[in-house]
Amino acid sequence: MENPLMLMIPGPTPVPEPVLFASAKPPISHRSQGFRDLMAEITANLKWLHQTQNDVLILASSGTGAMEAGIINVLSPGDRVLVGCNGKFGDRWAQVCEQFGLITERITVPWGEALDPEVFRQHLEADREKQIKGVIVTHSETSTGVLNDLETISRHIQDHGQALSIIDAVTSLGICPVPVDEWGLDVVVSASQKGYRMPPGLGFVCVSPRAWQADETARFPRFYLDLGKCRTDAAANTTPFTPPVNLYFALQVSLAMMKAEGLPSLFAHQQRLMQATRAAVRALELPLLVPDDRAASPAVTAIAPDQVAPETLRFKLQQQYGIVIAAGQDHMRGKLVRIGHLGYVCDRNIITTVAALEATLNSLGYPCQLGAGIKAAHNIFSANNF
Ligand SMILES: *Cc1c(COP(=O)(O)O)cnc(C)c1O
Repeated sequence: MENPLMLMIPGPTPVPEPVLFASAKPPISHRSQGFRDLMAEITANLKWLHQTQNDVLILASSGTGAMEAGIINVLSPGDRVLVGCNGKFGDRWAQVCEQFGLITERITVPWGEALDPEVFRQHLEADREKQIKGVIVTHSETSTGVLNDLETISRHIQDHGQALSIIDAVTSLGICPVPVDEWGLDVVVSASQKGYRMPPGLGFVCVSPRAWQADETARFPRFYLDLGKCRTDAAANTTPFTPPVNLYFALQVSLAMMKAEGLPSLFAHQQRLMQATRAAVRALELPLLVPDDRAASPAVTAIAPDQVAPETLRFKLQQQYGIVIAAGQDHMRGKLVRIGHLGYVCDRNIITTVAALEATLNSLGYPCQLGAGIKAAHNIFSANNF
C-alpha cells in the first residue's frame, strides 16, 4: 500500500475536513447576495485575526503576489527602502524591490540568526532627510525558523515618522501574536496555505490609514494588484475580478473554526508544538539551526544534521512513512531539514514525525536512542502550563 502523505512542511499545510468539504460545493456568482453575505462575514473575521480596524483585502494569489502588491501600492520608483535579510524570504523581498527600481538597502545577518532591531534603529535615526519610505521585515523567516523581533523593530519604524512598515507575516499570522493596531503595522501580508488551515490560493494584505495615504501618491503602474480598486469593491462586499469562490467557502469555515477556538488558544497550541519539536530534536542530539529559544519560530523548526545526509533523511521519511518534511533553501539546500508545525497540525503529527525520525536516523546508522525524542516531546505535551 502506498503511504498516505502527511505534510510537515511550512506550507501547504494540512487542512481540516470541514474546510475541504466547504470548498467542494458548487460555485456561486460573485455578484450575488449570497457572495456579499459571505464576504461580509469573512472580512469581519479577517479583522479579528489581524487584531485590527484596518482594511484586510483578499487577493487571488500566493503570498509573494500579495507581498508584491503591498510593496508597489505604497511606494514609487526611486524610493529608498530598508529590507531585513536573514533568510530566503527577506532576500526575495529585496529582489522584488530591486526589480521595481527601489533603492534597496539590505540589513543582513547570517541565516539562522535574528535581525538586530538596534541596527534598524540606527539606520532610521541616521535618515534625517526622511528618505526611507519603507521598511520590509519578514516576521517569521520560514527558510531558517527564526522569529524576528517585530515588535521592537516596528517601534523604531514608528519613531522615524515617515517610513511605512511592510511586513511579511506569512508564517506568523494565526500562529503567534501579530497585533496589527497595537504595533502600528502599516502593510501586513499573509497567505492561505500557512496559518489559515486552508489550501493555497489566497493572499491577504492588511493596509493602515497611513499606507492608504501613501497609496494615493504612489506611482508604480498596477492593475490586477491595485489595492485601491480592491478596497472600493470590498466596501460593497465584492471583488474587482472573479474571486476563487470555492476558496472563499473554505475560508469562511476555517476562520469560523479559528474564531471558535480563540487567539490565545491558537497561539498556545503552536507554542506547544514548537517546544515539543525542539525538545525532541535536542533529546536526539541533533543540532538546531536556531539554538536560542527566544528566536525560534513557532511555525517551523530547522535542523542541521551533521552525521546523516539531510536529503537522505528526507527521502527515507517520505518513502517509508509518508511523512513530508522540507529541505533547506538556496545555499542551505542539502544542509538542513525543516519540520513545519503550522496549520492544522496536532500533537499526534509531532509524535508520529518524531517516532519516524528516530527510526529513520537509526536505520541510517545515527546512534540515537529510540524513544528519547518521543519522551521529550511527551514531557512538553503532558505539562500543565499550556
Ligand atoms: C510561504 C511564504 C511566503 C509566500 O510564498 P508563496 O509561495 O508565494 O505563497 C512568503 N513569506 C514567507 C515567510 C513564507 O513562509
